Amino acid sequence: MSQDEAVISTNDDATACKRFAVQLGYWSDGYIQHFAKLGERKTPEINRGYYARVKGMHTLLDQFLAKTECNCQVVNLGAGFDSLFWLLKEESLAPKLFVEVDFASVTGRNCLLLRNRRKLQEAFSPDDGLKIEGSEAHSKHYHLLAVDLREVDTLERKLKEIGIDKSLPTVFITECVLIYMEPEHSAAIINWAGTNFKNAVFINYEQVNMQDRFGQVMIQNLRGRNCELLGANACPDLESHKQRFLSNNWDEAEVLDMMSIYNSLPIDDRARIERIEFLDEVDLLHQLLSHYCISWAVNDASQLGLSSISF
Ligand code: SAM
Repeated sequence: MSQDEAVISTNDDATACKRFAVQLGYWSDGYIQHFAKLGERKTPEINRGYYARVKGMHTLLDQFLAKTECNCQVVNLGAGFDSLFWLLKEESLAPKLFVEVDFASVTGRNCLLLRNRRKLQEAFSPDDGLKIEGSEAHSKHYHLLAVDLREVDTLERKLKEIGIDKSLPTVFITECVLIYMEPEHSAAIINWAGTNFKNAVFINYEQVNMQDRFGQVMIQNLRGRNCELLGANACPDLESHKQRFLSNNWDEAEVLDMMSIYNSLPIDDRARIERIEFLDEVDLLHQLLSHYCISWAVNDASQLGLSSISF
């Protein structure tokens, strides 16, 4: 398996984990079942970790959509089989433009699902003019683009072709994506977004602190899938996550590890999910969550109040 194939396969893992947690009732998602079959059982700490990841990303995104009243663009980079577009449509929170980007082999499979699943197509009215062509899909408000994110010029060109508006508030999402690229490539994307979008938020979920024993074990597991670079790609600590934004044309940046984010989520909801499965070794959850974080950055040239987006 090549390095890129190994990276691409991480999408299947992520979708299967989300499907499993949804099936157990951690959160609701009526679309994820169209993107993945129900796979093998995951451990309670993994399910809780995915709950924190999904809720954490939504907490920041929901504030951005509220501040901009959905008069905005969402660009989901390395989107895999994310069901976010359909969930936002269902909640009447769809932005003016929603773009998903991934490798052609992932978007090609996504196109097949889009072609074959009525439930996914129902999100598009005849007026939206959904067209599925090869490994890309286009409609009035939704685009699925095949781009290798290491080629920022191609990303820029394709976004221009679909009419991205650099002056409109835009949120970039990278959920477990940047770690699979060498640091110069992840910095190039962050820099391009920060340079070109002055009313924008960048929300990034990623590994951190991979140097200790637990982090090394996580890297070893991924090495089984040929991801030798993972350790070298990881930001060593929370501060370096922040600095990566600040040194790449973002005015403000924040970061929190996933344990802090888990603890910040609504107490009733946490109590609810903690009843779903018994977790014998709570330490395992703490160890796991301390190796992931959400970092986010803001450019708020028009003073829309984007700086106040937080946990
Ligand atoms: N963001 C999705 C989620 O959280 O469910 C998928 C996460 S999956 C772990 C990583 C995704 O990033 C995969 O779909 C992979 O193909 C994509 N990816 C990684 N490197 C990429 C690159 N250079 N160009 C395009 N996509 C990339």
